[in-house]
Amino acid sequence: MAVIGWIGLGNMGGHMSVNLVKAGHDVRGFDLNPAALAAAEAGGVKRAASIAEAVRGADAVFTMLPKGEHARAVYLGEDGVLKHADTRTLLIDSSTIDIASAQELHDAAAAAGFRFVDAPVSGGMSGAEAGTLTFMVGGEEGAVKDASDYIGPMSGNIIPTGGPTTGQAAKICNNLMLFINLASTAEGAVLADRLGLDKQVFWNIASVSSGDSWALRTWYPVPGVVPTAASNNDFAPTFTTELANKDIGLAISAAEDTGTPLEIGKHVQQLFQRLIDAGDAGKDCSMIIKLVDGSLQPADQAPSN
Ligand code: NAD
Repeated sequence: MAVIGWIGLGNMGGHMSVNLVKAGHDVRGFDLNPAALAAAEAGGVKRAASIAEAVRGADAVFTMLPKGEHARAVYLGEDGVLKHADTRTLLIDSSTIDIASAQELHDAAAAAGFRFVDAPVSGGMSGAEAGTLTFMVGGEEGAVKDASDYIGPMSGNIIPTGGPTTGQAAKICNNLMLFINLASTAEGAVLADRLGLDKQVFWNIASVSSGDSWALRTWYPVPGVVPTAASNNDFAPTFTTELANKDIGLAISAAEDTGTPLEIGKHVQQLFQRLIDAGDAGKDCSMIIKLVDGSLQPADQAPSN
């Protein structure tokens, strides 16, 4: 049994930390959101009142935060992890963040005497709950190996990606493909419906044909087909449009740095931006289907009753 500090108990971190509890670890969690803390506590995570309390005496600390700015604040801030953890504690950031922020965290952690890995994940909220996430882990070889021992109960795959920030590089490219697949799935689903196909019959075909993708199998944007899809639940978020827009923005920015044309990726970002402009940043990103079927109701134009 290890002592693990966990910071960021949202849609992903809540389930992931509970899987470490189920594996027998003593997990101390902190989040700014009391509802997230309460949900994790119900799963056996011990509530910490601050970052300092969460990281005290920990063998490893995981962070699962929205964006680079949050990760930088949590690690580098006055009340942050580097200030309060013991240098024997292995630091593992599973947030999806920009490469420059990840490099800054690697550098600051090393300068303060810590071992740090970037270990973003793929597999969605359903994979977080099932403990089947794919982790892509970048950093010094020994730290990556030791991190893998803690990651085990949350993962289906642990793939070392190379040196510092390579985990984030892999994740950014993966998610570029995911969101393009999601947009294509939404278009295919609406067209199939308008051509008179039964939604389940079409899904049964596409899921074993060349139109298949993880987005189709896990996030199908038509309700009543795939149990894990947010479409069943009026697009309550499993992966918010805001975070999807962030991820595709990370890809576009990395593409600009490397002179890579991302014509389709840039178009999909415009679709997410339209959802955000309509007031749906906090809804699930599979709501992109509403731009295809024409049912988007901008929040400021929604009928009041
Ligand atoms: P989320 O917004 O549901 O959770 C993030 C949590 O971090 C929130 O509960 C928030 O209160 C907390 N937080 C923010 N700043 C904090 C601070 N300073 N101290 C303590 N807590 C703080 O987001 P999520 O969907 O769980 O995603 C987390 C990360 O994982 C993101 O980088 C996202 O891109 C990535 N990711 C998400 C999914 C998914 O399907 N949701 C899949 C793979 C990767």
